[in-house]
Amino acid sequence: MVKEVKVKSILNKHKKRDEWFLDDYSVNPYYGCTFNCIYCYIKGSKYGSAELAAKINAPEILDKQLRHRAKKKEYGIIALSSSTEPYMHVERELELTRMILQKILKYRFPVEIATKSKLVLRDLDILEKIDSAAILPADLAQRLGRGVIVSFSISTLDEKLAKIVEPGTPSPKNRLKTMLKCKQGGFLVGVNYIPVLPFLSDSEENLDEMIRTAKDYGADYVLIGSLTLFGDKANDCKTLYYKFLEEHFPELVSEYKSLFRNSFAPPKRYQTKLAEMSKRLCRKYGIKSRIA
Ligand code: SF4
Repeated sequence: MVKEVKVKSILNKHKKRDEWFLDDYSVNPYYGCTFNCIYCYIKGSKYGSAELAAKINAPEILDKQLRHRAKKKEYGIIALSSSTEPYMHVERELELTRMILQKILKYRFPVEIATKSKLVLRDLDILEKIDSAAILPADLAQRLGRGVIVSFSISTLDEKLAKIVEPGTPSPKNRLKTMLKCKQGGFLVGVNYIPVLPFLSDSEENLDEMIRTAKDYGADYVLIGSLTLFGDKANDCKTLYYKFLEEHFPELVSEYKSLFRNSFAPPKRYQTKLAEMSKRLCRKYGIKSRIA
């Protein structure tokens, strides 16, 4: 039985638009996530809550908050979700994400879905309506021209490795197949290779294969971002990630330590190299390295 909680607010307005995903708002129907990716920061001490809970009154609260924003014409892309998976198994029964999408359609907001699950296919009927009915902020109307973006998150194409680092998720191959179905349904789709894993899925060869594969499965864009590791408590992703390295790739522990040093992220030179390599390979395969 999933814990149910009531919230006072569900629509988060960002101080400024997210440069990568273009969202001005985010909505998270759940606390926590049962997909349990070991690199995920949401269950750790920095951001999150380890326990899964459904924000059971989210659709009702969202209705009020979107009515208010729509009245003031404060349209903007809503990210669904930024700190949970909108299509966990529990969603099959609770349909919170589906009810939230119905509110988003009612008030004609655009939406960006980021998922690893094929359950998104259940909601293509609503997403299709949002895609044509949404009102975009003036500066995005030209650039994007539609109301729905569907992104699939993948950190490696290596099925064996994915099973270890993302134990609760559908396989990368299945995510790609789901993306292809969305593409065939006429949606704007892409792959978020975020995070790529240093020394495991971030080589030029890895990225070449990842971008080519994304293209083969219909991706309109590919976003590539590096790993972040937070916290020292038992549930923190940094602790879990090093545990995984010690168990499966002990030879990489010292490599990671010298790459991350005392930071939560690899240094600027690593990020720049990753960004340059991604852009170059995206050009090679004729695929966008930005959503719009
Ligand atoms: S699916 Fe997303 S939210 Fe869930 S554990 Fe994995 S990275 Fe975190």
